[in-house]
Amino acid sequence: MGQPLSVEPGKKIRLDEFDPAHTSGLDKAQAAAETQQNVAVLDELSYRLYAENKRALLLILQGMDTAGKDGVIRKVMTGIDPVSCQVTSFKQPSVEELDHDFLWRVHRAVPARGDVGIFNRSHYEDVLVVRVHKLVREGEWKSRYERINEFEKILTEGGTTIVKCYLHIGKEEQRRRLQARLDDRKKRWKFSKNDLAERKLWDKYREAYDDALTKCNTEHAPWYVVPADHKWHRDLIISRILRETLEQMDPRYPDEEEGLDQIVVE
Ligand code: AMP
Ligand code: MG
Repeated sequence: MGQPLSVEPGKKIRLDEFDPAHTSGLDKAQAAAETQQNVAVLDELSYRLYAENKRALLLILQGMDTAGKDGVIRKVMTGIDPVSCQVTSFKQPSVEELDHDFLWRVHRAVPARGDVGIFNRSHYEDVLVVRVHKLVREGEWKSRYERINEFEKILTEGGTTIVKCYLHIGKEEQRRRLQARLDDRKKRWKFSKNDLAERKLWDKYREAYDDALTKCNTEHAPWYVVPADHKWHRDLIISRILRETLEQMDPRYPDEEEGLDQIVVE
């Protein structure tokens, strides 16, 4: 047991101190059973959030290539009604997006009241890949942490609860997953030679992640470090975090109009 999922805001986060293969002392069958229950509860809670139509939930998923961002969306979000759920995958910015502030494309994608939004990558790329590949000057990316914190504050004060999950895999597990993509022809579409170039920058990414997670771990939008070497454990933890978050939000069906008991539809 006993590996924290989150760190007190202000304290340094060092990912090397977190075990990516942690399993919370559970086995696969136990974890899968609880995940299934959580997903069923998420269905009910997200439906209430939609009916209430006052607040929103935003899940931000970050992680190295193969960390399982797509997998989480496929496995855990099945319980959420597509009517009130949008997934946004952030890729390399377009020319138009680059002509705006880095938060422009992000702000347009945040969930509306009643909705659950999922970000597959996010504005954090603007202090990760952008830093590692020196796509902007140092002073620019360094000033972004504060702007990210302010942006997330604007969202939370407007009624959006933000859950940020870093899917933590080890370097050896990434090697296995990339190799599996090469070995299985049905998985080859997921492989890009560029993934190998990125893998060579593992340590640089680790440093950038340590900083991003530390500097943007706030009371209003904390980071969770989710051990993700075991997919079943990753799904369990994310489903639990979402369930607990929505239970705390406790969305309510809106008040009904008066006098409905007397009405009979003819
Ligand atoms: P994938 O998630 O495999 O579809 O790849 C998306 C790619 O877009 C990744 O290599 C990201 O690093 C890249 N990307 C996402 N956001 C940005 C950004 N703001 N600047 C540069 N590259 C980005
Ligand atoms: Mg990729």
